[in-house]
Amino acid sequence: MGKPLILDGKKLSQEIRADIKREIDSLREMGYRSPALAVILVGDDPASHVYVKNKRNACEKVGIKSLFYHLPKNITTEELLELIAELNSRQDVDGILVQLPLPSHINQQEIIMTISPEKDVDGFHPENLGKLMAFLDDGFVPCTPLGIDILLRHYGVELKGKEVVIVGAGFIVGRPLSLLMLWRNATVSVCHIHTRDLREHTLKADVLISATGVPHLIKADMVKEGAVVVDVGISKVDGRIVGDVDFDKVKEKASAITPVPGGVGPMTVSALLMNTLKSFKKRERIHLTSTMNP
Ligand code: NAD
Repeated sequence: MGKPLILDGKKLSQEIRADIKREIDSLREMGYRSPALAVILVGDDPASHVYVKNKRNACEKVGIKSLFYHLPKNITTEELLELIAELNSRQDVDGILVQLPLPSHINQQEIIMTISPEKDVDGFHPENLGKLMAFLDDGFVPCTPLGIDILLRHYGVELKGKEVVIVGAGFIVGRPLSLLMLWRNATVSVCHIHTRDLREHTLKADVLISATGVPHLIKADMVKEGAVVVDVGISKVDGRIVGDVDFDKVKEKASAITPVPGGVGPMTVSALLMNTLKSFKKRERIHLTSTMNP
């Protein structure tokens, strides 16, 4: 194989964010208010802090107001539910994001269920997951799957009729991504920790997407010549951020591949901005152009 195409999520994100900023600037000139995203962080997990900081910075740069609620680790489920109820009712709040994971004493499912589906820009409320399942365009698709889909479409990666193999069946990435890839008419396999022979599956993949958080799980001998490889994993090894894919070896076989960092990560944040703008436009009854149908 020659050099693979690098699926550059950082560069595409810059373009997407410039477009979003332009659109918000022109809406402001027309007299609309700024879109606003409420971000709730519970506790002091260092990785969550970094993710929240990135998301808030990205919001501010495009003209989305970010309202930040940093709550102590020992907050109760009831207190958190009260805050969400208040944010649900506020006219000036378009999106509500609760950074996961939450401390174990908080009922995560109840929190997700309480966020109004109209403001659920993370797309985890069952109503939005149901819309994804039903291939309905007016919900919110979870940010990482949406970001991956936009990245693949931007680079012209065909999905229709292709073998898409997803490694990892987590709630945030693997499971919703499998539905989105099905929506794109791919033939989808989802592998996980109980999959008996992982390599047997990954070798079939025209598009291989790994979202496990196991550093360098995907080796070159698990990848078909010419496959497109998307690495969602983020792990810290010896102080360095690495993905699920053994990039240096796998790039010799892939026709296209995402780097870590600079691939899926920035696309996830861009998808969050897109979902927040979508919510704002829906709430302000501004004409929507579909994010789902090319
Ligand atoms: P999760 O823990 O919910 O799910 C992990 C999945 O991987 C599970 O289905 C598990 O069965 C599977 N798995 C674990 N070890 C495996 C193995 N050896 N073989 C096959 N399957 C295996 O995790 P998640 O929230 O889906 O996140 C997965 C990774 O993606 C993490 O590294 C996370 O940091 C990263 N992530 C990145 C972004 C981004 O924007 N780049 C966004 C979300 C999550």
